[in-house]
Amino acid sequence: MNNKRERGNLQRMNKSKDFSKPILQVFLSYFGAHKKLFFLDMICAFAVAGIDIAFPIVSRYAMNELLPYSLYRTFFIIMAVMTGCFVVRSCFNYIITYLGHQFGIRVEADIREDLYAHFQDLEFDFFDENRTGKLMSRMTGDLFEITELAHHGPEDLLISLVTITGALIVMFSIEWRLALVVMFVIPAFVFIVILCRKNMMNSSAGVKRRLADINADIEASLSGMKTSKAFDNKQVDYARFTRTNSMYKSSKGDYYKAMAMFNASMEFAVCFLQVVVIAFGGYLIMRGRLNYVDLITFMLYITTFISPIKKLAAFAEMFTNGFAGLKRFIQIMRIEPSIKEAQDAIELGVKAHTRNAAHNSAEAWQEAGIQNAAHTMHGNISLKDVSFSYKNSPDVLKDINLEIKAGDCVAVVGHSGGGKSTLCQLIPRFYDVTEGVIMIDGIDIRKVTKSSLRRSIGIVQQDVFLFADTIYENIRYGRPSATAEEIYEAAKKAEIYDEIMQMTNGFETYVGERGTLLSGGQKQRISIARIFLKNPPILILDEATSALDSITEEQIRKSFEELAEGRTTIMIAHRLATVKNANKIVLIEDGAIMEQGSHQELIAKNGKYAKLYKAQSLR
Ligand code: ADP
Ligand code: MG
Repeated sequence: MNNKRERGNLQRMNKSKDFSKPILQVFLSYFGAHKKLFFLDMICAFAVAGIDIAFPIVSRYAMNELLPYSLYRTFFIIMAVMTGCFVVRSCFNYIITYLGHQFGIRVEADIREDLYAHFQDLEFDFFDENRTGKLMSRMTGDLFEITELAHHGPEDLLISLVTITGALIVMFSIEWRLALVVMFVIPAFVFIVILCRKNMMNSSAGVKRRLADINADIEASLSGMKTSKAFDNKQVDYARFTRTNSMYKSSKGDYYKAMAMFNASMEFAVCFLQVVVIAFGGYLIMRGRLNYVDLITFMLYITTFISPIKKLAAFAEMFTNGFAGLKRFIQIMRIEPSIKEAQDAIELGVKAHTRNAAHNSAEAWQEAGIQNAAHTMHGNISLKDVSFSYKNSPDVLKDINLEIKAGDCVAVVGHSGGGKSTLCQLIPRFYDVTEGVIMIDGIDIRKVTKSSLRRSIGIVQQDVFLFADTIYENIRYGRPSATAEEIYEAAKKAEIYDEIMQMTNGFETYVGERGTLLSGGQKQRISIARIFLKNPPILILDEATSALDSITEEQIRKSFEELAEGRTTIMIAHRLATVKNANKIVLIEDGAIMEQGSHQELIAKNGKYAKLYKAQSLR
């Protein structure tokens, strides 16, 4: 059952909307899936507006036709019916609030799902340029405002317009001169409301900005608390925080000022409308053109107006906010992933005749009988005339030519900033080469599916990212379909099984945020276990042990050796002693290969590598 739902979700993920369409059209397209709820909401809104308009008419009828003749029975029957109508109205209001919000939540969930799936599709360059905090607020704040608009927008607009026009029509049919006066006062009323609302909106935007500042400050100081303590900088941090805090206080003050102004003007406008109606109505009564009952009816309508007018003003605000959020959402959705998959991309490591039939799913791999890609893929890597530059910056890699034979271990060494990590990121296609070509088993990596490519490569980096979850789950991340046995096996191979078993909670031990509750060596071995589980034919070790002391490094060297066994391995290392046994050593400096060959060859050559090696062994 769970599986079925997951598959449904995956289908949704692939079914993309056309985001090149106008913003509102895209927005409305989200309503489609929940149109039943939407129309139910609209019908209820319409009914509520109808009952609001009917009440004064019925009262007028009672006052004109029943009261003068003391028709108790009919009068009380009508009153009872009216009461019934109000009960129904409350039910409708219940439906509007409950189901209407349900509708909003569903639209929000769909939009958020699409946004999340889109974030997943975007590549490294996008995340290089956009701050996490900002993207988070897209996922939460913006979406909230979009939902508010989706739910309250159409409903408020419908209720207000129906009530106001309906009431005006009835008023015109009773006494057109008085209705005309009301009709002229209302726009002024609306104008005042919108003006005050605008002030409120501006100051509310200020409050939001300040709140974002405060949140950023809190986030920064909480995560920097340990540094702050180390420097004993309590005073400095406190001063900075109180400054932002008082800025927030004063902008919130501005907001309440605007709100007070809004409420006061609103009250005045209502009273003014009443005075105008009584003054002009009184005049008409004195002239014998209007009776008391009709004046009362008019007064009843005036009170009916208040809430629709407030709603209209709220709509204006909601629309501005929601539309701004919508625009930002669609802007992001319109960004194409920078790494494009070829139309006829093939599955790497799958035999030719199954290539086209297979699609991007783990099931497809299993269906094709490929549990373990290492058996079908060789893992020859070759780079031909590869040059690369990050967006708007000079070349980081220049004319790289490199052949890596399947199963070999190639070490990449050189000064920091030379482009070693960059080179490694090109192989899983985290970035595309600017010039030249990278081939795996003779196939241009731009011609294979991204997922099969990335599934074939395991990367271990210096800073390991662990999720705030248990050790078990963190290892399982290497292959979510793995059984418990396989996970224990991977932990054993990574030489961390015994250590985990000694912890009080064993595999259920919580690792803390980003794994802070574990030591560097433990984190690194968990990440190795992950890769054992993933079992890729190609392995990239990017300074995997640089953050560890040499004793810990020595301890986990065995697990690295075991991991590299039978895989094509690219190893970036800082300490040259660890790369002596590599089949080939490549020295990179300023984005170009300076020397390559085996350790003996390079030492014999007595060039840069030899110099570097001697310098390190002297220490
Ligand atoms: P190494 O791993 O050899 O220390 P890197 O490949 O990390 O070197 O970096 C090579 C150069 O590329 C450096 O000058 C660095 O500033 C630049 N660089 C690295 N990552 C990015 C990025 N995401 N965007 C722009 N420039 C980058
Ligand atoms: Mg690096």
